Amino acid sequence: MSAKRETLSIVVPAFNESGNIGRMAQALRQIMERENICAAVYFVDDGSSDDTWEQIERAAGAWDMVRGVRFSRNFGKEAAIFAGLETAAGACVAVMDCDMQHPPETLVEMYRLWENGFEVIEGVKEDRGRESIFYKGMTALFYKLMSAAVKMDMSRTSDFKLLDRRAVDALISLPERSTFFRALSGWVGFKTASVGFRVQERAEGESKWTTMGLVRYAVSSILSFTTKPLHLVTGMGVLFLLLALIQGIECIVTYATHRAVEGFTTVILIELIIGSIVMLSLGIIGSYIAKIYEEVKGRHRYVVSTTLGIPARREQGDDAV
Ligand code: UDP
Ligand code: MG
Repeated sequence: MSAKRETLSIVVPAFNESGNIGRMAQALRQIMERENICAAVYFVDDGSSDDTWEQIERAAGAWDMVRGVRFSRNFGKEAAIFAGLETAAGACVAVMDCDMQHPPETLVEMYRLWENGFEVIEGVKEDRGRESIFYKGMTALFYKLMSAAVKMDMSRTSDFKLLDRRAVDALISLPERSTFFRALSGWVGFKTASVGFRVQERAEGESKWTTMGLVRYAVSSILSFTTKPLHLVTGMGVLFLLLALIQGIECIVTYATHRAVEGFTTVILIELIIGSIVMLSLGIIGSYIAKIYEEVKGRHRYVVSTTLGIPARREQGDDAV
């Protein structure tokens, strides 16, 4: 398979997107040829159980600028994005969803900004498309926490981005395993611009997230980006120390004035509250220890089973590049 060097690499994570691969490849090809942009599309098959990989092979047969990376199992969207970033060869790399929710026209706009010297171009959601009330509520809560943690407004950010080679190299050289791409692209800095886009309806199939999956993703993102919850534990400790002082003084006074005993309810309540706070705090600390444990193991973010159209040097996992 020929491996012509492209200027723009488009990374598309795909998990059970059989119905969307062909459509996506065709849409991108049309628009890239019309705009005269030399682009290659990197589909990262995140351990799909349908025929997504066959569809990628098919798309590659129809257009020689289609590349593919296939994971040995489902490693999650973050891993798929990083596999794409590590494999991509272009002078700039874009990341977009496989379900046409990120409009390819916006990609052209991003590319033009890159040509004008911007190095990180963020896709910003102008409206969030159709989502359930529950989903809206949960994401609002998550983004509130996340925005406080990274000290920037995250509520309209997306994974739709275009990064200059320098920003990509900075990202893939990060040693951490547990990543949150959406916030990291802001963290690397560089000359940044943003482009608004309207979230489209999903072309085919269902959203790949389960509620539990989203909750886990949210917790993991917060843990990997901020240590604020740990300080919260200290804060709670200080608060309870103050309360203990007041209660302690009161106790001594009642004892000294021979009015002790009574107050059984107070004791039970204090026991319960302190017990819960201690457990909660242990849980928070435990979550960070778990993160440290995962990072210390230093496992690969993903395991590749097959590739398509990618030069050998860039074929293997994360350390080979
Ligand atoms: N995706 C993935 N691995 C996963 C889940 C999702 O690569 O474990 C991909 C999916 O194929 C799609 C993108 O991530 O290209 C966004 O997923 P989805 O549309 O299901 O999420 P939503 O748009 O609802 O946030
Ligand atoms: Mg989607």
